[in-house]
Amino acid sequence: MVAAMSELPHPALSVVAPCYNEQEVLPEFLRRIGAVLDKAAGVAEVVLVDDGSRDRTWDVMTAAAAADPRIVAVRLMRNHGHQLALTAGLSVCRGERILIIDADLQDPPELLPDMMALMDQGADVVYGQRRQRDGESLFKRATAAGFYRLINRLTDVDIPADAGDFRLVTRRVLDLLLAMPERHRFIRGMVAWIGGRQVPLIYDRHARAAGESKYPLSKMIRFAADAITAFSVVPLMASMTIGWVMAAVGFGFFIYSMIGWLMHANLPGWTSIMAALGLLSGMQFLMLGIIGAYLGRLYDQSKGRPLFMIRDIVGGPK
Ligand code: UDP
Ligand code: MG
Repeated sequence: MVAAMSELPHPALSVVAPCYNEQEVLPEFLRRIGAVLDKAAGVAEVVLVDDGSRDRTWDVMTAAAAADPRIVAVRLMRNHGHQLALTAGLSVCRGERILIIDADLQDPPELLPDMMALMDQGADVVYGQRRQRDGESLFKRATAAGFYRLINRLTDVDIPADAGDFRLVTRRVLDLLLAMPERHRFIRGMVAWIGGRQVPLIYDRHARAAGESKYPLSKMIRFAADAITAFSVVPLMASMTIGWVMAAVGFGFFIYSMIGWLMHANLPGWTSIMAALGLLSGMQFLMLGIIGAYLGRLYDQSKGRPLFMIRDIVGGPK
């Protein structure tokens, strides 16, 4: 009898890598991650997710899975994008600790032992923080820096700058992450939101080993929009601020036209038009702001995130 998957002992470590058209780097990635896992203690698995690649990525994966029982290949129906491909891999993996890594070897797998050591000391999350970014254009670096500054101003979670999704997380953190049902997923922000002990590991980010970036500017903009809207209702609330300003300006117009009317300084008809315009436009913006406030709350509610996450409970009846 074959034991059901869930009855098998859980691996100590899962490595999860989303792959989109990565046929050039995959063999080298598997060689390097394999070498790291050979040295590590405990049972490990490598979950590779083919995010609807149009090259031979899937063939490379299945051949690797046939040759090495540690490798699990997952293929999505179509291209879902980096964050969802990663989420698919995270929901399939079964390890007690989970290493999230890109397949393009920009993040060196050889850092795993250092990350494990930091986790042994009690970290819930060990995230890679880049000291330098080889092979990335000035434009990419500048937009990334601006993006992290903006998102940290707009939101109340501390999302570390210069950190991608390269990180080691505990099963507990992963289960909390998977319990967040939101559709637009900004995973590094969601992990930061979970909290616990999050420890950086500084490293040098290398250039891609082969192939090219799958993040053109259009995808970067969508990614940034997802990140900001997933963590901040500030843009929605902006209409409230504008509403107050407009209401004050409109009321000022109203008073001004009334004074003119009392002093008989206005052209006939001007007073009524200006008074109505001032009051109504102020009111309209304010009403939009109120709708924004409710919509923001509705949006927060619809994300369905846990209200709180208990870390420990000590004491009580045994
Ligand atoms: N990726 C993916 N689906 C996509 C785009 C990218 O699974 O639609 C994977 C890709 O194969 C890589 C990781 O996500 O392993 C990061 O992508 P990439 O290296 O192209 O992004 P960059 O490092 O240039 O930001
Ligand atoms: Mg990359």
